[in-house]
Amino acid sequence: MHMLSHAEASEKFIANQERTDWHDDTLWFVRAKRDKASKLIPEWEALREHASQIKEHMLSNLPQYLLEFEVNAQANGIQVHWAKDAHEHNEIVYSIIQKHGDKALVKSKSMLTEECHLNAFLEQKGIDVVDTDLGERIVQFRNEVPSHIVLPAIHLKKEDVGETFHQHLGTPKGNKDPQFLTEAARIHLREKFLAAKVAITGVNFAVAETGEFVVCTNEGNADMGAHLSEVHIACMGIEKIIPKRQDLGVFLRLLARSATGQLITTYSSHFAKPREGQEMHIVLVDNGRSRQLAREEFRNSLKCIRCAACFNTCPVYRRSGGHSYHQPVAGPIGSILAPNFDKKANVDLPFASTLCGSCSNVCPVKINIHEQLWFWRQDLMKEGLAPAGKVISMKLMAWVLSNPSLFKWAGAMGRKVISWAPWLVNNGLNPWYKQREMPEAPKQSFQEWYKSNRS
Ligand code: SF4
Repeated sequence: MHMLSHAEASEKFIANQERTDWHDDTLWFVRAKRDKASKLIPEWEALREHASQIKEHMLSNLPQYLLEFEVNAQANGIQVHWAKDAHEHNEIVYSIIQKHGDKALVKSKSMLTEECHLNAFLEQKGIDVVDTDLGERIVQFRNEVPSHIVLPAIHLKKEDVGETFHQHLGTPKGNKDPQFLTEAARIHLREKFLAAKVAITGVNFAVAETGEFVVCTNEGNADMGAHLSEVHIACMGIEKIIPKRQDLGVFLRLLARSATGQLITTYSSHFAKPREGQEMHIVLVDNGRSRQLAREEFRNSLKCIRCAACFNTCPVYRRSGGHSYHQPVAGPIGSILAPNFDKKANVDLPFASTLCGSCSNVCPVKINIHEQLWFWRQDLMKEGLAPAGKVISMKLMAWVLSNPSLFKWAGAMGRKVISWAPWLVNNGLNPWYKQREMPEAPKQSFQEWYKSNRS
């Protein structure tokens, strides 16, 4: 099946003008909440810098911290597993489930399991996976993937959710009251929680010093699953390790504020050891992370704490929707992570940006996101992976821009063509024109204006 490129998928998304506008407005509202919450901390910038440096230190000493975590977690009674890639991760999770002979499990939000396509893998093996985060359950019912890492169903309106629940939970047709629908989901999920013997959670932070891990949710669904289950499996990417418990104070303050503008996530739960009679497993997954760590220009992307602030501020994400990125992690950071998995399949993503730098400005761990997008563009162009049209136009542009007389002549010609025969530029073959009204051509070039005004 032909996978739509970001531009093609965005075209579909923006065809619905009303939805595009509220998607844009809603995410901007979240971004504004983030701004207010961050301003309440006078030392916000110092906190960002500190978090960035802790992550820098962690990345430079990753093997030691991972081994320290393993020793301490095992001493706490947690069973530690290592997975080199998504397949190994899925097999490990499946083997644990199989040992317990269970056919259904509950799972709280975990972008890593999305990255590894765990649900599809387990479903093929006959296991019923129930996503318990409300937004994730909605998209799971609809056979969709999350469109945002913090707000998985942000692309849907309450009318869509009402219809989905009507079809899957039997709620009255036309009822779109959020309170009512949430209650219905709560009753439905409660049954699943009570029946499941196995619970899977993600991991926000794993502390090397203590061997514990922390899971942050606003719904308490990770806690409900983990506390009711006989087996708790936590899945984490190896970059989620932090050296010390005291570092949590830095990251927890940054995470909720950057994500939703909350002062703290409603539940920041520490899992240090299994309760009596329970089995606790943690799967540490590489899946391309060490490859990214070795790419000097992109290693910083592993500092990401998945707050989604870069999504909410990005003018391209806000107006193209998460599904247009065809990757589990969308948005600006997703566009940096994706080419690490497969350059060819994700060649479009680093170009899905205005490079305005707003993402880097809000990132709580100070990742130079827009620069890395630019670095990927250069890398992909050098490898000849960009579409032929882009390669030719870039070469042409470079030739014109590096030749002053040609540049002058092209500018003069361009102004003439736009004023005399605008249809030559403003036509359906020009993708720039599709969604924009082209400005009127200026009467003179800047050089001409400068000469007549400043001589
Ligand atoms: S790159 Fe930065 S802003 Fe974006 S999700 Fe990661 S931590 Fe948040």
